[in-house]
Order: sequence, then structure tokens, then C-alpha cells
Amino acid sequence: PSGFDQSTTDIPTTTFDDIGGLDEAKRELIRAVKWPLTNPELFEAIDIDPPSGILLYGPPGTGKTMLARAVSSTSNANFTAINGPELMNRYVGESERAVRRVFEQARSNAPTVLFFDEVDAIGMTRAEENNSPATDRVVSQLLTELDGVERRGAVTVVGATNRPGRLDDALLRPGRFDRLVSVPMPDAAARAEIFRIHLRGRVTGDYDIDVRALAEQTEGYTGSDIAAIVREAGLLAIESRIRERSQGRTAATNPTVRIRERDLKRALE
Ligand code: ATP
Repeated sequence: PSGFDQSTTDIPTTTFDDIGGLDEAKRELIRAVKWPLTNPELFEAIDIDPPSGILLYGPPGTGKTMLARAVSSTSNANFTAINGPELMNRYVGESERAVRRVFEQARSNAPTVLFFDEVDAIGMTRAEENNSPATDRVVSQLLTELDGVERRGAVTVVGATNRPGRLDDALLRPGRFDRLVSVPMPDAAARAEIFRIHLRGRVTGDYDIDVRALAEQTEGYTGSDIAAIVREAGLLAIESRIRERSQGRTAATNPTVRIRERDLKRALE
């Protein structure tokens, strides 16, 4: 059982190939997370401390959670996700204890990637009005856990936020979340890649669908928006297949269904 009832632990199956764009963020995570977890002896031999904590920042739905899961998977590490607001939404004293337990558990499951989603909820800036002594104590507990590689062992902490400006300054000092990794909106090339990833196995052939044209039409869309478009297109494809079956235009036992260009067009509309 997990030490924190709102956390889940597993070894993810997400890979970097499932993530479109974000080449720089992927490279950074390999250096800052994978190498220290898989080759700690090299860091020791040359006496260089790996980063304490990595902060992924960028707009919602751009792939921060996916990145954290993928780097955990490629490092063969357990992945534990903690949601910041859920952690804070507890009785006085309980949040602190939960932080302590989460780290204890992570150390005993090591190597572990400990992922704090919406980490800004934990480290509210002192100016934030709903900041309270209880909040400060949770931050202190988190700082204690982050301080010192020795104590952390083979546990890497990855935080994610849409609002890096709201993160408590104390959490950004050296030895804490000291590596900031930008997770930007996808450009046209990245959007085409994201379409290709989500359409994999759902279209008849690789060249059926012009993903570049789709990318041109989706300026300002996030990866999560693109996933939603493909999902909608899939529903439209299912809808017309069901209609064809009921009209006897295809065998009721024919299980194939594929997304076509026009499903995507309608989904976009
Ligand atoms: P939030 O800040 O809202 O938690 P996030 O940045 O963590 O969002 P994810 O949860 O990683 O975003 O992405 C949500 C979903 O959007 C993913 O499950 C995936 O389907 C899709 N997605 C987002 N970004 C990408 C990407 N770069 N490549 C492929 N799919 C993506």
C-alpha cells in the first residue's frame, strides 16, 4: 500500500517516442534524471552533484506529466505522482506527515521518480493570501527532504507547474528545484508530430492523412487539444461505421474502423 493514499506508484510504459516535439526538454531530462539514476557511480567518481530537483514549467496540456513518466520509464525507475492541491487539502499536520511518508516510501522503492504535479500549490509565495503557518510547515518539510543527496538516495524529484512565478522562492534555491526545464507550446513541426503519434494505428496508411496541413490549422493548440481532436475524430469514425452497419452497407462483423481525413476535418470544426 502507498504511504499516501492520493499517490500511485508504477513503472510507466510511456516512452519519449510517444511525445511530439520537446527535444530540448527530453535531452535535459536524460542528463538530469536518467544519468544520475542509472550511473550514480560516475557522478560520485568525478564528485559532481546531480541536480536536486527538476522543475518542468509551461502551459497546461503541453506534456509535462508525459515527460516525467517517460524519463522514469527509460530510467527503469518507479514513478510516484503526488498532486499538489490534494496534498495541501488536508487536516492541519497531515500534509507535512504525508510529505515525509511519500519520501520514505520513495526511498524504499528506489530508484524512484517522485512527481509533484501543480507543485506551486505547495510552495505558495509568501505574499499569497491563503498562505498560512501550516503551508509554511509543509514547504519546510519538503525543503528538508530535498536538502542533501545523501538523505534522498536514488530518488529524483520532478515538479510541474503552469505558474512558475507562484512557486515559493525557497523552493527555487540551489539544492532544491535547481534545474528549470521549459515545456513550451508546440510549434507547427511538433504539432505535426503529435498528430502522427495520436493517429498511429488509427488510420489506414501513413500517407493517408496530411499531418502538416493539420498542424497549419491548429496554431495555438496544445498536445492535449490535439489528442482531443483525434478522440473526437475517432468517435465520428465509429458513428459512421455504426450507421453503415445498420444500413447493411458493411458486414456487422467487420471490426475495422479507421479515422479518415473528413473525420478530422469535422472534428476540427
Ligand atoms: P497539466 O499541466 O494540465 O497537468 P501536462 O503538461 O502535464 O498538463 P500532460 O498531462 O502530459 O500535460 O498531457 C495531457 C495529454 O495530452 C497527454 O495524455 C497526451 O495525450 C496529450 N499530449 C500533450 N502533450 C503532448 C505531446 N507533446 N505529444 C503527444 N501527446 C501530448
